[in-house]
Amino acid sequence: MTLKAKTTITFYNGLNTIGGPMIEVAYNKSHVLFDLGEVYRPELNLPDEKYQTLVNNQLIGDVPNFYDPELTGKPLDHERWEHAAAYISHLHLDHSKAMNFLAPEIPLYAGPLTAKMLPALNEKWDFLLPAAKHEPSYTRPIIAAEYQKPIAVGDITMTVWPSDHDAYGATGLIVKTPDLAIAYTGDIRLHGYHPDWVKEFLTAAKDCDVLITEATGFSWPEEKHDENSAEFTGPKNEDELTAEFVQLQKDNPNRQITFNTYPTNVERLLRIISASPRKVVLHAARAHLLKESINQDLPYYYLPGEQKFVDLKPELAVQYEELLNDDHEFLWQAVADFEHLQKGGLYIHSNAEPLGDFDPAYQPFLQKLEKQNIAVQMLRCSGHADEKELRQIIDLVQPPTLIPVHTLHPELVENPYGNRILPKRNQTVTL
Ligand SMILES: [Zn+2]
Repeated sequence: MTLKAKTTITFYNGLNTIGGPMIEVAYNKSHVLFDLGEVYRPELNLPDEKYQTLVNNQLIGDVPNFYDPELTGKPLDHERWEHAAAYISHLHLDHSKAMNFLAPEIPLYAGPLTAKMLPALNEKWDFLLPAAKHEPSYTRPIIAAEYQKPIAVGDITMTVWPSDHDAYGATGLIVKTPDLAIAYTGDIRLHGYHPDWVKEFLTAAKDCDVLITEATGFSWPEEKHDENSAEFTGPKNEDELTAEFVQLQKDNPNRQITFNTYPTNVERLLRIISASPRKVVLHAARAHLLKESINQDLPYYYLPGEQKFVDLKPELAVQYEELLNDDHEFLWQAVADFEHLQKGGLYIHSNAEPLGDFDPAYQPFLQKLEKQNIAVQMLRCSGHADEKELRQIIDLVQPPTLIPVHTLHPELVENPYGNRILPKRNQTVTL
């Protein structure tokens, strides 16, 4: 008599932290792992970012049979596991930074935009953790998954769905085994550019037995998210954010206006560029990233003494002097050299680095602008669903079992449609 196989879900990391989920789904001799990020905790001041240091500090999961034996010293058990694959939902570091730690023979899947952008982002070798025996700028192969087309991994299939988050090309996942269907949201929101894609993904997830959802929005119960309160200003969604960029340009016809955004939020930048009445000029490094990853040619400038990129078209170059002297033609990306901006100008900080108060560079950055008498306008929009949106997401799926992860307070997330599981780190769940 043979025992019938059963699906197991093991939660290796990213349960009570914002970021770093590492979850394994296994059935018989097949298993898959998602995601491959590192929890962001700069306050630990770790001496290095080596494999063992990260495992010891719980910044990555201690996942057997997936990591490169060159790092772990432990060979993969190919007899136990005949089929293996991994997936990353999007290119944020808390979901992707450890992807080079994956054993080279295990295929790694991601949405097509994520697969294209990660090597471009890592080109300057400060993005991903380095692969064993490779240059720091090396990015291991990523297979660009076709949306909505099941990928077979032995007895398991993984289907990648386009979704919406403040990372370009973010996706969600549906995993099916012979006895269980599991939906994993990755990072998700309904107030981005593509709520329609999110709803389509969640509709497909409706047939699933289990919904594993990020629940970042439940992390700060003490904060009020009342949109009608006086404290709530700023855009409610990405469309409003673009509109505010345009309005600021209209309201300030004769004022130097500069801005910055986060590199991985490509879509926000593209929308600003297409909607702006002024000509948008990017710092050359950002223009190069967009050329490399999505083959877009955009106007750019170099700071004095910077190395030139061969792939940027000379006819699109704007002289830095021209930008420094301008007060009406350009909206340009300022990244350094703020002491040379015009006094009385306007700078728009749109979830750019330094990101906020938790970064020691943030206050000095603001002081530098203040000293120059430059007004700072914050235009932020979150990549994550808030509590209300998360309830909507759960309503759309109506999951028989809900497993909230990627939040400081998983216990606050309720499931009106059935069971809820709050796994502990390294716990295996069987349904
Ligand atoms: Zn993210």
